Amino acid sequence: NISLSNRVKAVKPSPTLAITARAAAMRAAGTDIIGLGAGEPDFDTPDHIKAAAVKAIDNGFTKYTAVDGIPSLKKAVAEKFKRDNGLDYDLKQILVSSGGKQSFYNLAQALLNPGDEVIIPAPYWVSYPDMVLLADGVPVIVEAGQSQNFKITPAQLRAAITDKTRLFVINSPSNPTGVAYNLDELKALGEVLQDYPDILIATDDMYEHILWNKGEFVNILNARPDFYSRTIVLNGVSKAYSMTGWRIGYCAGPAELIKAMGVIQSQSTSNPTSISQVAAEEAINGDQSCIDIMMVEFKKRHDYVVAELNTIDGIECLPTDGTFYVFPNIEKLLPKLDGISDDLQFSEYLIEKAGVALVPGSAFGCPGHIRISIATSMSNLENALSRIKQAI
Ligand code: PLP
Repeated sequence: NISLSNRVKAVKPSPTLAITARAAAMRAAGTDIIGLGAGEPDFDTPDHIKAAAVKAIDNGFTKYTAVDGIPSLKKAVAEKFKRDNGLDYDLKQILVSSGGKQSFYNLAQALLNPGDEVIIPAPYWVSYPDMVLLADGVPVIVEAGQSQNFKITPAQLRAAITDKTRLFVINSPSNPTGVAYNLDELKALGEVLQDYPDILIATDDMYEHILWNKGEFVNILNARPDFYSRTIVLNGVSKAYSMTGWRIGYCAGPAELIKAMGVIQSQSTSNPTSISQVAAEEAINGDQSCIDIMMVEFKKRHDYVVAELNTIDGIECLPTDGTFYVFPNIEKLLPKLDGISDDLQFSEYLIEKAGVALVPGSAFGCPGHIRISIATSMSNLENALSRIKQAI
């Protein structure tokens, strides 16, 4: 009977990690489960990246480093921002953390006071609202459903702003919907934000490199370079280089904020793993062809899965701009199914009866949908779709 903190009681464990764990446990118990829940590429980390890490170990690079990241990695990150995004940062404006998740956690901890509001468009990455709650902040959810292609409008943004709004979060291309805002859409949101100069903007560019539909990747700073001093750009190596287990994320923004986030990190985890930092440096500086190889494969799977889902009566699946997720709407399917009235029950039914594990849209603040990860082999996807059709 341990009395836990109100803080921890206000949040829930990550539902996406939970579904992956459940699928793994069922598999271990002998059940044939196809996992479409994973938020990570199914490719191996490229060899040249692994080799850099092995060399780091052999060289004894296995001790504490600077809390905010080794200078050579921070330099690589600065060069990456210049090269890919046209953004100039000096090393004081960059923080390397143990994953993109820690970057956002540090941000919430360093920025928010009790009651401060954070505007989060839904569908959202599952962790934003909970990390805001852990910082005693208030998530303000703005819903963008399928009818608006899962993107919020300027009017919605304006309506959500109050005198307590501290931060606006934008994730494009998006987990879970795969859609990306284009330059004009970002400019339109920028017109609202320009009226509220005290609101900070967090752009989570984690899926920057997994994008096929919109030409060049753009973020809010490309649309509004004048927001430079109020924007923090979050990114990392997890998704682009298939390095989820290495735990390296990075961000850049106003030096004062980055420094405060570094203080949070110094009193929680200290530096990210020394070996992983060397690997991340190689990932960012080295051969980039691994990205294209993954992209071609993801696009092929995307085309297949979207087309197949749309052949199922009652399922509507929009094509995405990138990422390795698709986010079909099942609202017209539900009334056809006996005893199943929402996406949670449908997902439960699929894992129990079809042996297919995926994440209900409710986990992302968007009921009536499911998230399917296409980060698995084509044969697994074919198999999963035929099982889903049969179960329906
Ligand atoms: N941001 C988004 C939108 C994500 O989907 C994820 C991972 O699922 C992250 C950030 C964090 O990634 P990591 O902590 O593995 O670097």
